Formats: sequence, structure tokens, C-alpha cells
Amino acid sequence: MNCPECSQSDVLEIEHILPDEIEVRFFFCHNCEEKWWNRDGIDIDVTQVLEMVRQSKT
Ligand SMILES: [Zn+2]
Repeated sequence: MNCPECSQSDVLEIEHILPDEIEVRFFFCHNCEEKWWNRDGIDIDVTQVLEMVRQSKT
């Protein structure tokens, strides 16, 4: 995985399982400190992650 901002490969990847067993990945670039989220290979906004967490509790 390369950073979409700076194209460096020095990227941290953390897998998260949301309450509904939705699998998302968090990426953090050590080089430029860009952060982003991905679900099933699709980039998503952090607000979408929070929305999924919130929906699972209702
Ligand atoms: Zn970067």
C-alpha cells in the first residue's frame, strides 16, 4: 500500500472489525501523516466509519 498523497510505502495498516463484523482498515502514512480508511478496497471517510459504528448500536 502506497500513500495516495506522497506515494511513499511507509504506511501503517491497522485492521478494525466494527460491531456488525464490518471489516475496515485504517492507514497512516509515516512520511506525510496522511490518514485514511478503507472498506473492501474502497476508500471511505472517517465519518462513514463513525456512522457504521453508530448504526450498529440502534
Ligand atoms: Zn504520505
